[in-house]
Amino acid sequence: MPIRLLPAHVVNQIAAGEVVERPASVVKELVENAIDAGATQIEVDLLEGGLESIRVRDDGEGIVPDELRLAVAPHATSKISAAEDLDGIATMGFRGEALASIGSVSRLELLSRRHDAEAGARLVVDNGDMHDMEPAASPPGTTMTVGRLFARVPARRKFLKTARAESGRVRRVLRDLAAAHPGVGFTYSTDGVIRLELPTGQAPRDRLVALLGRELGDSLIDIDVERDGVSMWGVVGPPDTARPASTHQIICLNGRPIVDRAIRQALREAFRGLIEPSRHPIAALFIGVDPTRVDVNVHPAKTEVRLRDERLIFVVVRDAVRRALEGRDLIPDLPLPLPERRSEARALFGAGKVLTVSDGSSVTQVPATQASRFASDPIDGVKPTTRFMQLHDMWLVVEDEQGIVIVDQHALHERVMFERLLDRIGQGDLPAQHLMVPVAVEVEGDAATALASIVALTRQLGFDLTPMGPSTIAVHAAPVLLVERRVDLAGFVEDLLDRAGALHEADDETALRDVLDMMACKAAIKAGDRLTERELQDLLQQREAIERSSNCPHGRPTSMRLTLDDLEQRFGRR
Ligand code: ADP
Ligand code: MG
Repeated sequence: MPIRLLPAHVVNQIAAGEVVERPASVVKELVENAIDAGATQIEVDLLEGGLESIRVRDDGEGIVPDELRLAVAPHATSKISAAEDLDGIATMGFRGEALASIGSVSRLELLSRRHDAEAGARLVVDNGDMHDMEPAASPPGTTMTVGRLFARVPARRKFLKTARAESGRVRRVLRDLAAAHPGVGFTYSTDGVIRLELPTGQAPRDRLVALLGRELGDSLIDIDVERDGVSMWGVVGPPDTARPASTHQIICLNGRPIVDRAIRQALREAFRGLIEPSRHPIAALFIGVDPTRVDVNVHPAKTEVRLRDERLIFVVVRDAVRRALEGRDLIPDLPLPLPERRSEARALFGAGKVLTVSDGSSVTQVPATQASRFASDPIDGVKPTTRFMQLHDMWLVVEDEQGIVIVDQHALHERVMFERLLDRIGQGDLPAQHLMVPVAVEVEGDAATALASIVALTRQLGFDLTPMGPSTIAVHAAPVLLVERRVDLAGFVEDLLDRAGALHEADDETALRDVLDMMACKAAIKAGDRLTERELQDLLQQREAIERSSNCPHGRPTSMRLTLDDLEQRFGRR
């Protein structure tokens, strides 16, 4: 075939493939236009999940009749005029392709009136064919109606899901845009039923509570920082509200909802050890940087951006969220049976069965002098321990100001050691213990190669490893902690080798935390270990002194609390 220029409508259809994927992407483009037009109220109505029609009405500045045809022309925009403008985009749109693209794959009707104009005008573009413009009655602002999306592009229509699934996606797009623009009122309906209603001029935090769930309102943790030219405010949910998917994360940069791996990763790092790795914290974060530091022109739908200083933003997000979490009492209340099943609660806590103390001496009173040593510095909001005991060689039961805290001894010890190791390694390599008799570790394949993959990391930890024969590694020295706690050294090195690939791919800090996790877990006291009184006391004191004592390094809780309030209610004392 000879080379030829494609007709304009084919060019638009090809472009539409990038911008317009499904009803949610149409809604995103139209709502962004409404926001750019200064709307204070935006209404979105869908019929059949947007497959039949999508209507977006706004009270923004409107379009003059003479410019309606231009608005749907490709590469026509009122938002930038020169290439330099790309270096500091403050509007949601700028590519001038959305309306042209939508008009090429649907029946698009534009109806608009400027606030100062007597009358409005209507223009229809039917799958690329532009009809004549005509005067029409219109409220001030703009109404865009998209009918039968992809009716003429069956290949595309096939990829769409059910009406329900599509309207769910639209809801999420609206949620993110509404979070980023709390001043704008939104109404969203599907097939005549209102799904979302948000008032104009809402306070930013109220808007988030409305969007993330009213039941979270009180528990959401606020964040507000400014550092090195990066500002961030928002909220995160406490660890026990984390979700199995990351759908409850809203991340906006300069008012634009974005999908950014680095920021998600920063959030994950901040929650590390507080939630299990398969879960995702609830978060809404609004990051602001000078527009010249972001390139938003890397993705047709503008959901991905390129950050000039990605690392800085990563650190700001991670540290701010971490700090906000550290200031919180994160011990979850124990979920007790519901009141109608009160008899069970009594069996658990009232019959004296669980409270049988295996060793009479383990109900202990710490002399007050001791308690006051950490009284001035309560971490996690937990007041100094006064009385405690070990039950079933596995659980520590501790009295605190708010009630009774039940502690998993292994999980707590693991967390304590992890924090200490982390602290210690910040000052240099961990102390090593020379072994009189080297321990041999068999490896699969070549010893020298296996060793090369972990040697730098293991040296930091205090290991001295050398090849000994073709497929054996000798351990000459090991971290003092592991030796003292009688950890199986060969097994530990084997585990490290198993994970060498993953450790190599992770960034340095993540890899280090991973191996410290392993060490803490291996060295921690186990369920079934009877603790002496002194050990118990030490452990509980350390609990007061570390951050994040509420969860083990893997994110499982170390402690749960039965509040006095709850107990009194359930036992019918109030
Ligand atoms: P872009 O938003 O990238 O400029 P679009 O194709 O989305 O490109 O829109 C083209 C132009 O049409 C915009 O630059 C704007 O001038 C005008 N426009 C689109 N939607 C609206 C609206 N709801 N209100 C006012 N003007 C609009
Ligand atoms: Mg646009």
